Amino acid sequence: MKDENVVWHQHELSKFVRAKQKKQKPCILWFTGLSGSGKSTIAGALEQRLYDLGHHTYLLDGDNVRHGLNKDLGFSDADRVENIRRIGEVSKLFCDAGLLVMSAFISPFREDRQMVRELVEGSEFVEVFMDTPLEECERRDPKGLYKKARSGEIRNFTGIDSTYERPESPEIVLNTALQSVDEAVNKIIDYLETHQIIAEG
Ligand code: ADP
Repeated sequence: MKDENVVWHQHELSKFVRAKQKKQKPCILWFTGLSGSGKSTIAGALEQRLYDLGHHTYLLDGDNVRHGLNKDLGFSDADRVENIRRIGEVSKLFCDAGLLVMSAFISPFREDRQMVRELVEGSEFVEVFMDTPLEECERRDPKGLYKKARSGEIRNFTGIDSTYERPESPEIVLNTALQSVDEAVNKIIDYLETHQIIAEG
């Protein structure tokens, strides 16, 4: 519960100067899509590319966050909402630190993604929709989770017995059944350059 005696302290150093020092405009690249659609793979490859270009980044990965900050949360609808809310707030803090933040979470509900979008300024939220077909994600099944979901060993699995709400107007759409890792990364880098989030290389 919010305490009325807790007042926001406005510090001197702003997001703007922190970002300027890093020669980039902070933003959140929010990767959303089915398990196995390539969120972690592409976000990881993108972070490596941005690092090589001298940029300052941070990658928040779904599974990793569930080992720490969100280890008390499960996969019920209420817990999924809280999972995304916390990640959104953490992403916002990293954005405020001037970083290019990559967040890779299934984040199946439109309303939750909208909640994160509204946490930051308009151009700072870049939704990257991994539009890889379910059949391809299931064929890859990198963690063996689809197999378990089909056999009923896991319940509430997105794409099988829990819905995934497709984004209506994502900034970037990728389909890793058709695009290589390099092609997907290039498309995101193009977007970042075109929108002057990073300088053209
Ligand atoms: P998610 O984070 O969405 O669950 P992952 O990145 O963990 O997905 O898994 C995607 C899997 O698909 C990995 O095993 C990866 O090696 C494989 N893969 C095959 N082709 C591609 C591609 N073009 N882009 C991304 N991943 C690919």
